[in-house]
Amino acid sequence: MALLTKAPRGTQDMLPADSGRWQYLEETARAVAKACGFREIRFPTFEHTELFARGVGDTTDVVQKEMYTFEDKSGRSITLRPEGTAGTVRAVIEHGLLGEALPLKVYYLPSCFRYEKPQAGRLREFHQFGCEMFGSKGPASDAEVIGLAAQLFEELGIGNLSLEINSIGCPECRAAYHKALREYFEARRDQLCETCLGRLEKNPMRILDCKNPECAQIAAGAPVVLDYLCQECAGHFEGLKACLAAMGLAYTVNPRIVRGLDYYTRTVFEFVSQNIGAQGTVCGGGRYDGLVKMLGGPDTPALGFAIGLERLLLVMDQCGAAFPEERGCDLYIGSMGEAAALQAFQLAEALRREGVYAEFDSMGRSVKAQMKYADKIGARYSMILGENELAEGTAQLKNMKTGAQTAIRLDDSAVGALSDTVFFEGYEITEEEH
Ligand code: ATP
Ligand code: MG
Repeated sequence: MALLTKAPRGTQDMLPADSGRWQYLEETARAVAKACGFREIRFPTFEHTELFARGVGDTTDVVQKEMYTFEDKSGRSITLRPEGTAGTVRAVIEHGLLGEALPLKVYYLPSCFRYEKPQAGRLREFHQFGCEMFGSKGPASDAEVIGLAAQLFEELGIGNLSLEINSIGCPECRAAYHKALREYFEARRDQLCETCLGRLEKNPMRILDCKNPECAQIAAGAPVVLDYLCQECAGHFEGLKACLAAMGLAYTVNPRIVRGLDYYTRTVFEFVSQNIGAQGTVCGGGRYDGLVKMLGGPDTPALGFAIGLERLLLVMDQCGAAFPEERGCDLYIGSMGEAAALQAFQLAEALRREGVYAEFDSMGRSVKAQMKYADKIGARYSMILGENELAEGTAQLKNMKTGAQTAIRLDDSAVGALSDTVFFEGYEITEEEH
């Protein structure tokens, strides 16, 4: 039975009581993206495994350890998306979007899947807000994308996240760096984990990102990539810093940040929170000038970031960030007796067509129990229809907060009169309360 009544490890239900918070996050993200010229893209929940193996990189933890990969019934290897960049790049190549007006700017809000050890801020199904920008290679675009993330954090009341930036250079300047790294780690290979020994051959920069504490300790003393940047990459990094300064965005240079695959280039960055423990990275991003070409598209510079929404919520809660109050029931129409119940139902239906959240009794409860329910759903106004009200053709509309009553004629004017009061006034009241 437990299998029937318990969600799989590392997954979370999003319950109605919390959905307003999620919608607020998503709406805010959409609004910020839109103001920055990004439009939404949606891609499949699963792709050919090969796309992620190549697009995320087969020396990454994601590909080596975390993918949900399975064979479908015809023997194809399929993987649930662990992130959004690969699917985005595949889609923009497939549909020729890079031949249209550049820069191309897109955002997405998908769920992602990674087989990881579940803990606070680390799930097996989680959600991302990601932005990707194609076609521009100057550092102003790096700053633009970083600025978008920063703007979102500000909107959400968590503008105090620290921005850390680094440059991991380009394939040219990285050759010398790889050589230095290999020499450094070669001399300490007996202390490296199994996975990192493989990385030593294929992509020594990945060792810098290993979560194994022993590897991390050795990595702390390794040569840093900033000392190996070619002139152009160094210039790009200086350009980025100048743009960030011009935007008034504070940052620190952290030479330990790597997203070390050959087609990741130059800028990498993270937004980190000190408040939510070990899983403090809320946003990770960077430039991947080589990826589009590597996946079979036209040689196109590109960059982007992804924000983990669960971590974002953790940070917001930790910082006591405000969420907008949810608009409860506008009007509860209680009733006594069958005829009144029918009239309450009709009135509620008509009001709902005007966009008013009107509720009526569908449980056959006593008036007292109906009013209790009205309270529970936060009704701001109530009205009770009984024999007297029907006979007289009027009912009292009650403001639940102030107790003030207004007579409402139960004729053709009722819907208009009610919606004027409970809907439009209601908006003003909630606005003022904020
Ligand atoms: P970490 O170092 O924490 O494992 P990562 O480098 O694997 O992060 P990215 O691939 O850059 O993460 O993904 C971008 C963002 O997605 C992260 O900064 C984080 O907020 C979120 N994220 C990544 N993995 C998970 C997960 N398993 N559960 C919840 N959020 C996640
Ligand atoms: Mg990870």
